[in-house]
Amino acid sequence: MSSDSPAAETRQALGSLVEALHEGRSQEALELFLKDQACEIFPRGPDTLKWLTDNIGKKDSTRLIGALTRLACFNCERGLRKCENCNGAGHFDYDMVCETCLGLGSTSCDFCGGTGLASIDFIPIGLRLAVFAVRLENAEKQIEGLLKESKTSSPAQDPKAASSDCVDALFNLNRQISVLESAVGVNADLIEVPSGFSKRLSRITRKAVRVGRKGEKRLMQIIACMVVSCELQAKNTKESTETGKLARARKKYYSSLVNSKPPFAGTSLEHMSLTEAAKKLKSNRAMSHET
Ligand SMILES: [Zn+2]
Ligand SMILES: [Zn+2]
Repeated sequence: MSSDSPAAETRQALGSLVEALHEGRSQEALELFLKDQACEIFPRGPDTLKWLTDNIGKKDSTRLIGALTRLACFNCERGLRKCENCNGAGHFDYDMVCETCLGLGSTSCDFCGGTGLASIDFIPIGLRLAVFAVRLENAEKQIEGLLKESKTSSPAQDPKAASSDCVDALFNLNRQISVLESAVGVNADLIEVPSGFSKRLSRITRKAVRVGRKGEKRLMQIIACMVVSCELQAKNTKESTETGKLARARKKYYSSLVNSKPPFAGTSLEHMSLTEAAKKLKSNRAMSHET
């Protein structure tokens, strides 16, 4: 049989895949696709995207990529895990903030890097670039939306509510920045994939760094807002009470984070790969100016 015409078994599997996609059962389609790849009914190499487009068309391939893009991490809830250091309390005896989780009680999931999405190992090699490019687009849109949003409570009116709004905003934004970071990380994981992708990859990195910078700036503003909220909470409570002690400890700790460089250095909110990528881009630019 010629290599361009799929075997009967493959044709049948493609039929089921397309049917599931057309009927909107994208999760099931994805499961079928991964199973058929594992059984070697479908190819698994770097040319998977081309093979897929040739066999089921661009529209259905995009649907399948979409399902892969949304595939959740099996290990966490939206990128977060209970902090083991403080057992989720965020503090020790109310007078010391847990630095592992920034006093928030949760840390980023190690499996997915805090994205809440399936990590790169679960994405078939030939589809990784496409999946991460879509994730990057989505994260950018989410970040733009979060930057426009300013519906947090006013610290002056209700410091406790403002503080909890800050925490929500912080987690939402941090999750999207983690998606950007994982898109930069894809660079390292695509080494085995044939060349020709390098331009696209560096575009992905540049974009992730640019959007990430905006996001981190906002994270800092949120921390500054937490300082204000904790300060007001401290003023409104006696130092001897548990709430009073904690508010003072948190105020002190968050104040120390506001000017950290790189942002959140040494904490679980630090995005090292993004900082590294930004540095590399800067030195590349400097080199190209010299020559
Ligand atoms: Zn903790
Ligand atoms: Zn996870």
